[in-house]
Amino acid sequence: MSKIPYRTYLTEEEMPRQWYNLRADMKEQPDVYLHPGTHQPITREDMLPIFCDELCDQELNSTDRYIDIPEEVQEFYKIYRPAPLIRAYNLEKALDTPAKIYYKFEGNNTSGSHKLNSAAAQVYYAKKQGLTSLTTETGAGQWGTALSMACAYFGLDLTVYMVKVSYEQKPFRKAVIHTFGADVIPSPSDTTEVGRAILKAHPGTGGSLGCAISEAIETATHQKGCRYVLGSVLNQVVLHQSIIGLESKIAMEKLGEYPDIVIGCAGGGSNLGGLMGAFMKDKLDGSRPQTDFIAVEPASCPSLTRGRYAYDFCDTGHVTPLARMYTLGSDFMPSANHAGGLRYHGMSPILSKLYHDGYMRAVSVEQTKVFEAAVQFAKCETILPAPESAHAIRVAVDEALRCRESGESKTILFGLTGTGYFDMNAYTSYLEGKMSDYIPTDEELQKSFDTLPKIG
Ligand SMILES: *Cc1c(COP(=O)(O)O)cnc(C)c1O
Repeated sequence: MSKIPYRTYLTEEEMPRQWYNLRADMKEQPDVYLHPGTHQPITREDMLPIFCDELCDQELNSTDRYIDIPEEVQEFYKIYRPAPLIRAYNLEKALDTPAKIYYKFEGNNTSGSHKLNSAAAQVYYAKKQGLTSLTTETGAGQWGTALSMACAYFGLDLTVYMVKVSYEQKPFRKAVIHTFGADVIPSPSDTTEVGRAILKAHPGTGGSLGCAISEAIETATHQKGCRYVLGSVLNQVVLHQSIIGLESKIAMEKLGEYPDIVIGCAGGGSNLGGLMGAFMKDKLDGSRPQTDFIAVEPASCPSLTRGRYAYDFCDTGHVTPLARMYTLGSDFMPSANHAGGLRYHGMSPILSKLYHDGYMRAVSVEQTKVFEAAVQFAKCETILPAPESAHAIRVAVDEALRCRESGESKTILFGLTGTGYFDMNAYTSYLEGKMSDYIPTDEELQKSFDTLPKIG
């Protein structure tokens, strides 16, 4: 029997030419977005001042199963894709498990994450519409970096509102974004009304993703030829990220494999939504009903495992539409934890709905356990994982150890979303034994739930 290779790549010809729209196969749709003022279902016209036209259409499209990837975006993808599907032989050996562990590695580009997949698409559509600039927010910095790369390529100006604590803690992230020609403003800032109000109410605050979103939207809507773009949570982002799962499925087919378990870390849900899409399709149509889908989130920001399934704002300043999702409340301020990309109060409405309807499950993990898995993985597989990605590694390892107990040789697929070179303070704090695990109390969560908007 020939051995399965370490790395499986697609050829350029084999790369997907269409994204997969999971909503077209869902039995029930996620609830519609509501207007923040009127609480009525949002219309395309309501969204047009904020988002590019084509992206509004994609956001509302729940019927077209496949959507063409524009030629220009396919060309851009070819610079850093296809991403390899890697068999974690060394990790399997170290765990002494009969399980087969595969991971899809999305960290092989300068942004160090999968976020470039959606950045490329969003910037392309903005350019095509004749817009000249974009605004966005960034927390840990991966999205801001990815977007600055795509804006440099397609020729658009970009302003990034970066959560102030990250801005101060990660000067090199800022430098990379500057290198690609974008402006970076620490948020909350005095450049917007909402920023000034937040600063007045919370002087000295380190900011949050929710604040930065409000600032970026305000700036976009006050500037000609400018729109706002978001790197996760939205349906359009899950659509663009479907390339991860489509490529994974083709690669696994080449190997004669199919996953029993699909695992991804979940911040806003875009990488997991993208990875699992093509496989969830088979669960929804009944051809592969048994596949186990697992979302992994930090115990410090547990939106699926401890949140409410309710309508909520996507930002702190309450200027975004309301989405029905698993949420900790838009006022929730996660404690300082080191997986910046997973510190968001809400979750993709698509994933929220699938979770609510029992198509997938979720687990939360503590960060010291996450870093333990990250270090073990790095030593075996030679890739230094992003702390976010290491959440998925943790659960992949736990599932593989379970297989060792039971003797089952399950096939595990997880998403390795990125690399952790900008997170060395976190690694150092773990290695020096200084990392702690903070888990919010029920009382703290309740305080935040109390602020959820009351919808009819
Ligand atoms: C942003 C990010 C995540 C989390 O975002 P999702 O939308 O949930 O995928 C995970 N990993 C990395 C490396 C990221 O940059």
